[in-house]
Amino acid sequence: MSGRTRVAGVIGYPVRHSLSPALHNAAFAALGLDWVYAAFEVPAGAGGDAVAAMRALGIEGLSVTMPHKDAAAAACDELSATAMLLGAVNCIRRDGSRLIGENTDGTGFIRSLREQAGMEPTGRRAVVLGAGGAARAVVVALAAHGASVTVVNRSAAAAERTAEVGNVAASAAGTSQGSVSVGTAEAVRDADLVVNATPLGMAHNDPLPTDPALLGEGQTVTDLIYRPQRTPFLDAAARAGATTLNGTGMLLFQAAEQFTMWTGHAAPVDAMAAAVGLAIAG
Ligand code: NDP
Repeated sequence: MSGRTRVAGVIGYPVRHSLSPALHNAAFAALGLDWVYAAFEVPAGAGGDAVAAMRALGIEGLSVTMPHKDAAAAACDELSATAMLLGAVNCIRRDGSRLIGENTDGTGFIRSLREQAGMEPTGRRAVVLGAGGAARAVVVALAAHGASVTVVNRSAAAAERTAEVGNVAASAAGTSQGSVSVGTAEAVRDADLVVNATPLGMAHNDPLPTDPALLGEGQTVTDLIYRPQRTPFLDAAARAGATTLNGTGMLLFQAAEQFTMWTGHAAPVDAMAAAVGLAIAG
C-alpha cells in the first residue's frame, strides 16, 4: 500500500466473517490494481454516517450488508432503478462527491443461474421460499427476466409486499411473461426453479424450508445459503433427482459486478472464485 492506494470496503454488523475482502482483494491482486478492500464493523444506526464518510475519506466504493442496506439507500444521492424499487442498497460507488446506490444481488443470482446451472429464467415457473431482503432481490430479478414467480412465505404481509415490487419490476422491464403471485408450498410441485431464500439450513437443527416430497427430476433447486455449502435441503433435492446450486455463485457474481462498477475493469471471476473457495474451506 502507498499514499496512492485506492480504498474500498464493506460495512456491516457483524462483518468479521465476511468473504467480501477475500473476493475483492484477490481480484485487485489478479489485475495488479493498487487498491485495497477492508471490512468496517459499523453498528446498527451508524450506517448513514459511514456512507457519508465516503466523501470525506475518498473511499471509492462500499459493499453494504446487514443491517445497513436500508440506511445506505437513504444516505445516497442517487439510486439505480433496482435499488430504488427494493429500497435497499448492497453497493455504493462514488462519482466525485456524489454517492450512487446500486443493488447487485438479483443480477448476481441470475448470472449464477445461467452460468452455473445452465438455466435461462425467461418463461420459467419459479417458486421463491421467503420474502426478506434476499428473496425480494431474487424475485425482482426473476420477474424482470420474464419468469412467472410464486412467493411462499411464513408471513403473508411480507409475501404480498414482495409480489408487489416484483410485478412493478416486470412491468418496468416490459416483459409480458414476468409476473409474481403469492402462493402455498404446493406450487413447488410444478416449478421449474425453486429458490430457498430463508435462512433455514444455516443452523444445525433447522427444519427444511419445504417438503422435499414436492421436489423431483427436471427441477433446478437453489439455496441462497453458502455456509454450509451443502444444506440438507440441497441434499434432499439432489436425492429427488433435481439439479442443485448453492449460494456461492450469487455471492461471487454480485461481487464481480461491484468490482466492475468501481474499477471499470472486467472482474477476474476465476481468481475471485478460487479465493472464495479457499476462504469457505478455511
Ligand atoms: P431476512 O431476514 O431479510 O428474511 C428472511 C426470510 O426468511 C423471511 O421471509 C422470513 O419470513 C423467512 N424465515 C426466517 N426464519 C424462518 C423460519 N423459521 N420459518 C420460515 N420462514 C422463515 O434475510 P435475508 O433475506 O437477508 O437472507 C435470507 C438468506 O439468504 C440467508 O440465509 C442469507 O445468508 C442468504 N443470502 C445469501 C446471499 C448470497 O449472496 N448468496 C445474499 C443475501 C442473503 P417472515 O417474513 O415470515 O419473517
